[in-house]
Amino acid sequence: MAPAISLRDVAKVYRPPRKRPYLAIEHVDLDIPAGRFVSVVGPSGCGKSTLLGLVSGLLPPTVGEVTLLGSRVTGVRTDVGFIFQRDALLPWRTVRENVELPLRFRGERDPARAKEWIVRVGLGPFIDNYPHELSGGMRKRAQLAQSLVRDPSVLLMDEPFSALDVQTRNLMENELLNLWGASGKTVLFITHDLEEAIALSDEIVVMTAGPGTIKARYPVALPRPRNVTEIRFAPEFVALYERAWADLRDEVARSYKRSLEAG
Ligand code: ADP
Repeated sequence: MAPAISLRDVAKVYRPPRKRPYLAIEHVDLDIPAGRFVSVVGPSGCGKSTLLGLVSGLLPPTVGEVTLLGSRVTGVRTDVGFIFQRDALLPWRTVRENVELPLRFRGERDPARAKEWIVRVGLGPFIDNYPHELSGGMRKRAQLAQSLVRDPSVLLMDEPFSALDVQTRNLMENELLNLWGASGKTVLFITHDLEEAIALSDEIVVMTAGPGTIKARYPVALPRPRNVTEIRFAPEFVALYERAWADLRDEVARSYKRSLEAG
């Protein structure tokens, strides 16, 4: 079966005005089979968000080819769901209106489907509330409903939970796994947190310090369903963490050293 996401020898050079071009990632080859939950970890600035931008079509690659769901990515793709660290809820719209928005953009009106998703993420009692009336975790739930309501088969997530406190974060991670569970969706999840990556994923991809390239890939053979809080104590989890951290540690150190040199 063709992979859901495929990158072939991809490089991205940024050309900011009045500055030198910057090679963010290079030689990235990655195939993600349909239905897999794959996390990319790496030090800050190694090109994780760039990778997601390339897959979504928000950024064109400088070199190489990106394929999504069997077709080459040549512009912004509307057949994927996104969740970013900063929430994308419109403050002047209620939860209901925010979740209905992606359907309206496509000229669809399906209030029942929007409501179903709001209830599924546990926001039924808050359907007519505005974002500022919700906690950080609740806003994340609304975002999850907003990106799942169109039923995309690929979900791209860029550090979605990193602004949440630890307890809320763990709740949301479990929630995500429950929603993803039997859905067959492919998830590409970006995080700088190795524990989060292992707890959630079928595979983790470790990137080098910038220019980012793939340093190592580790299958995560932990049983599902998982509870992200408890799985961290499993001996297999700890063993994998130690192996992957040995890879990541060097890259974090290199990235830190470079940031000091750059002043
Ligand atoms: P990460 O998500 O791993 O922190 P990014 O993909 O955001 O890394 O960025 C990779 C590198 O590319 C960083 O050094 C960043 O400063 C640089 N970069 C990102 N976007 C731009 C841009 N629009 N113009 C110039 N440089 C950029």
